[in-house]
Amino acid sequence: MAGAPRHTRAPLQWDGVDVSDLLRKSLLQLSTMTSVRDAIERAAISRGVARRFVAGAETADAVRVSDELARVGRGVSIGYLGGETTSLEHAQQTKAAYLAVVGELAANGYIGHGRAEVSVPLPALGLGLDDGRRVALEHAREICRAAADAGAVVTVDMPDHTMTDATLHVVHDLRQDFPDTGVALQTCLHRTEADCRELSYAGSRVRLCKGAYREPGSAAYQDRADVDKAYVRCLKVLMAGAGYPMVASHDLRLVEIAAALAGKHGRDPKSFEYQMRYGIRIDEQQRIADRGDQMRVYVPFGSEWYGYLMRRLAERPANAALFLRSLLVRS
Ligand SMILES: Cc1cc2nc3c(=O)[nH]c(=O)nc-3n(C[C@H](O)[C@H](O)[C@H](O)COP(=O)(O)OP(=O)(O)OC[C@H]3O[C@@H](n4cnc5c(N)ncnc54)[C@H](O)[C@@H]3O)c2cc1C
Repeated sequence: MAGAPRHTRAPLQWDGVDVSDLLRKSLLQLSTMTSVRDAIERAAISRGVARRFVAGAETADAVRVSDELARVGRGVSIGYLGGETTSLEHAQQTKAAYLAVVGELAANGYIGHGRAEVSVPLPALGLGLDDGRRVALEHAREICRAAADAGAVVTVDMPDHTMTDATLHVVHDLRQDFPDTGVALQTCLHRTEADCRELSYAGSRVRLCKGAYREPGSAAYQDRADVDKAYVRCLKVLMAGAGYPMVASHDLRLVEIAAALAGKHGRDPKSFEYQMRYGIRIDEQQRIADRGDQMRVYVPFGSEWYGYLMRRLAERPANAALFLRSLLVRS
């Protein structure tokens, strides 16, 4: 779920300048400066804003937040923030981090609303290395096995469009042994409606999201309205199909359309779910859980939380303002 964030919100204009975009770019630029990064890393992890979006640096943080969410009827999908993988050793460390968190969940007797899920990005498991497909498959297989033993499930994140085919191949192989392995699809891509058709068979868990990467026009819709329309088309395919759709969006119009389509197709509330990020649309998450639908929250943790936090802040000027204010007030 890393990568260059897509610019999707309505622009805030001032004298012909897109202020939201300017703020977003400035924040992302600022966040790459080492001195700024060091200062924020030291200051922010203990503070409310970082804690709002990231569970913490340690496995125990992910388990604690999972437990808190389970108590209010929400499930979790845990993602490890381990930074960019450039070596086999790093990929092995990432795999070990996933095995550790799955082990801890099992040891703590986690019984969430629905089984716990881990969100696994294949590039972090070595997909981009030499012989990457085999390496990532082997690592993902170990995680799937541990998850199955712990009563949890795995969903494979979708990286940018250059890795869609490789990711789907790995997921296909994983499903031979672990048929409940989920996969994310991105409605910004032209190909995704066809992928949804192919993947809407019984038992197939598909997480539908808009897409987090800046993609070229040859592969993806450039206009956010087209991405949203494609989301609705894909939802129609998935809700009408025999699979298990996972509606990953904070866009309330799409959430409502998903609910209407589920109703139209007579879906049992246990046959699909909603997914949102930790700290975003919290009231809506609770409303969905309270009305009896399944609500799963993506809970990120790990030492490389900084980049994830900065992307969440840059997505919304209001978040950036909140963050800067908290730093100024409390330093
Ligand atoms: C569980 C989960 C898994 C995902 N997995 C993947 C993946 O594997 N691959 C991938 O490419 N992408 C993934 N994504 C990201 C996704 O593709 C989108 O980039 C992201 O969810 C934003 O799109 P949106 O549908 O929420 O709509 P948007 O139009 O971006 O947002 C809708 C509304 O949500 C609110 N909102 C959104 N972001 C914020 C924020 N940071 N702070 C406060 N409010 C906010 C705003 O009110 C906004 O208007 C995932 C997202 C989720 C929730």
